[in-house]
Amino acid sequence: MTNQTKHFIELSSILALRLRCNECEAEISLPLSKELRVKRLRVCPHCEHAWTINGSTMEGAIEDAIGAIKTVARLLNRDFPVGFSLMLEIKADKPEAEVGVKC
Ligand SMILES: [Zn+2]
Repeated sequence: MTNQTKHFIELSSILALRLRCNECEAEISLPLSKELRVKRLRVCPHCEHAWTINGSTMEGAIEDAIGAIKTVARLLNRDFPVGFSLMLEIKADKPEAEVGVKC
């Protein structure tokens, strides 16, 4: 018998956007409760490695995605009757046993 565990997250549980630099691995967490200023993140605030190209569509896409998540979460949290609950299914971390430890 094979067991499968699925992991879900409610939109209201998403608190922040985390960006991690591919060059220096510094991380920045931007709370979704505040205004998101992605255009200010064209370079890593720590090592100045380029994160996006000036005018990249990535910046707008991130802002649009976060804006849509915030809008749907806000609508679901109102006293507005909907006949469903909405969650995102997320990929689970691999258990330690599947990671493969070399001795
Ligand atoms: Zn960096």
